[in-house]
Amino acid sequence: MHVCTVPTDEPESDGTAEWDSTTIVVVECDEGIGYTYCEQAAAQLIQDTLADLVHEDVRRAWLDMQRAVRNAGRPGIAACAISAVDQALWDRKARTLGVSLVDLLGAAHEDVPVYGSGGFCTYSLDRLREQLGGWASQGIPRVKMKLGREPDADPKRLDVARRAIGDDTELFVDANGAFTAKDALGWAERYADEWNVSWFEEPVSSGDFDGLRMLREHGPGGLDIAAGEYAYTPEDARNIVECVDVLQLDVTRCLGITGVLSASGLANAHGKDVSAHCAPAISAHAFCAVERRRHLEYFHDHIRIEELLFDGRPELRDGALHPDRSRPGNGLELKRKELDKWSA
Ligand SMILES: [Mg+2]
Repeated sequence: MHVCTVPTDEPESDGTAEWDSTTIVVVECDEGIGYTYCEQAAAQLIQDTLADLVHEDVRRAWLDMQRAVRNAGRPGIAACAISAVDQALWDRKARTLGVSLVDLLGAAHEDVPVYGSGGFCTYSLDRLREQLGGWASQGIPRVKMKLGREPDADPKRLDVARRAIGDDTELFVDANGAFTAKDALGWAERYADEWNVSWFEEPVSSGDFDGLRMLREHGPGGLDIAAGEYAYTPEDARNIVECVDVLQLDVTRCLGITGVLSASGLANAHGKDVSAHCAPAISAHAFCAVERRRHLEYFHDHIRIEELLFDGRPELRDGALHPDRSRPGNGLELKRKELDKWSA
C-alpha cells in the first residue's frame, strides 16, 4: 500500500473548499491495483479491517467488507477504502484471466467521452483562459469551471471562459454547494441566458435534496442539474438520483466498480444518465461498462497525479478516453520510484 501526498501546481479553491495538495491511497492485491483519493486513514482501515476479507469472488468480498465497517461507519472514509480494494480485486481477476478490465466487466462502450475540469476560483483570468482554451483546442468539446466563492466576480470569469473556448464548446459550472436554492435558481437563469452554460453541478449542498429537486424542476431548459460525487452507498445514490438530471458517481468513493455498477442500474431504472467523477485512469474502465455513461471528469489535479504515478493510462483521443483492451486488467503499472518519493 502507498499513501502519496502531491502538492498542487498552485493554490486551488472552489465554492466551498481550499487546498494545496491531494492525497491518494494506492492498494496492491497481488497483481491487482486500486486507488482512492482520500485521507491516510483509509490506508489504516484497509490494513486493519479489510485486508483479511479479500476473496476471489469479488462481490462476496464487497459484501463482507461492508459488513466489517458497520460500526466504523460505512459512508465516507470506509467507502473510499472499500472502493480501492474492490478495484484491486476486479483488476486482479482480469489480470489472472489475461483479459482487460473492460472485457471482464463487459463493455457497453469502447470509450468514455471526457470534459476538461479545473477553472479554480483561485486562478487568474489568464490561467483560466489558458487552461479552458487549452482543453478546447485539444479537441475536448466540453469544459468545467468552479464558481460561487465570490459570486460577484463570476460574470467576468464566465466572459473570459466563454471567449476562450468559443461558441462550439460546452461550458459547465460547479458551485460545490455554495448557494442557497433561491440564489442558485437566479444564477441558473443567468448562466443559461448569458453564457449558454449547459451543466450546473452542486448548485446547493448535495445533502439538500429539496433544493436540488426544486432546481431540476424549475431551472431553465437545457441546463442539467448534476450531483452525486458524495454518494458513498447505494442508499445515497437512491436519495440523489430523483433530484438531478444526471447522477454523478465516483468509483474511488462509491464502493468501487461493484458500487458503480450497482448505482448505475438504479440510474437506468430512473432513465437518468451517469457521469463519472474524477480519477480518469480507473473511471475510463469502469464507465465503459455503464450503459448510460454520459461523460467523465478529466480533472486537472488527478491528471497530474495519475501521470506522475501510473504508466499504462487510457489514451485521450477525439475527446474521449480509450482503455487499451490489449493490456491485462486496468493496464496500469506503478511508477515505484515516484510512489516512494511522494509517500507520506
Ligand atoms: Mg464537483
